[in-house]
Amino acid sequence: MKNNERSFIPISKPIVGIEEKQAVQKVLDSGIIAQGPVTQNFEEEFAEYCGSKFAIAVNSGTAALHTALACANVGRGDSVVTSPFTFIASANSILMQNASIKFVDILEDTFNINPELLEEELDSTLKAIVTVDLFGQPADYEQINSFAKQNDLIVVEDACQSIGATYQGQKTGALTDLGCFSLYATKNMMSAEGGVMTTNNEDFMKSAKSFRQHGMVGPYEYSGLGFNYRMTDVLAAIATAQLHKIDEFNKLRSQNASQLIEGLSEVEGIVLPRIKTDRTSSFHQFTIRITPEYRHSREKFISMLNERGIGTGIYYPRPLHHYDHIKEFGFSQGDFPVAEKMANEVVALPVHPSVTSNDIERIVDTIIEVSNV
Ligand SMILES: *Cc1c(COP(=O)(O)O)cnc(C)c1O
Repeated sequence: MKNNERSFIPISKPIVGIEEKQAVQKVLDSGIIAQGPVTQNFEEEFAEYCGSKFAIAVNSGTAALHTALACANVGRGDSVVTSPFTFIASANSILMQNASIKFVDILEDTFNINPELLEEELDSTLKAIVTVDLFGQPADYEQINSFAKQNDLIVVEDACQSIGATYQGQKTGALTDLGCFSLYATKNMMSAEGGVMTTNNEDFMKSAKSFRQHGMVGPYEYSGLGFNYRMTDVLAAIATAQLHKIDEFNKLRSQNASQLIEGLSEVEGIVLPRIKTDRTSSFHQFTIRITPEYRHSREKFISMLNERGIGTGIYYPRPLHHYDHIKEFGFSQGDFPVAEKMANEVVALPVHPSVTSNDIERIVDTIIEVSNV
């Protein structure tokens, strides 16, 4: 117990069980190790899980986003609006299609885009919206979808962090025209690297299947530029085993999150995650804010936790409009003040399924302790 108490609690940890190992072994022994029947079966199960008609497996979340924007026919001369407070891939995928990036600022309580600001970005170049369900909480889809419908825009959901989360009872991946998931090692379910695009639209499904395979539409016939974004059966075997466990994984994340919220509710100067009542979060991250009212600086808070064996993460330390290759689109410091403020205040605490209830107690006790010194 003593020993256990001193062990470091990491911010993330992939869970690989006997099911994943056996499934990989079976694929390796089968002789079909690149894309084949295991991938196809995974796609069927994944679509069913999300409640979408189709799922197209690719080899990363970034590939899923790129494929979705290609399906939406986004190209040169078009613009796409997204969040300035997300992982770089949400925005880079827009550049991969040679379109330009627009941003709207985020809401302080959910870290997701503020739908009221979309109107300001509307012009004749605007083609699509890439929404991000940051940390696992779905964005405001009722308002976003209705704005998109009125203005003939396509909505791409970056659901890379929100597998299994719901909005008004409907799972992510089936909330918009196109959904994008990542199966990277640290995500709620994973296949080391991997991704999935979901859609109810048959034409999009066909475009995606072609796009992930060099634009192929028949034997040595190509309709345009495509890529090699194929998932392999080796990784689809891992992904399928993980899909069978995702509800259990998410339940443990949710329990950990509730226990953290309960334990930390009285700490002055810390803002805890807030999940709106019409949605659930997959708690990909449990992100708190260290506000100026807190006893210590964020950096001090982090080092005190790390010294005491508790891992932390900053997602994300810089809003996207501060990066040089994105700044080029005409952004400057101060353009998205909420995103900038959040980047300075956020800290993620361990919430993943390997974190036990005792670990959570230790995290809570440690935070309360350091908040009083
Ligand atoms: C992980 C992630 C991606 C990219 O997924 P990869 O599989 O790493 O390419 C994109 N957007 C968000 C919000 C993510 O968290």
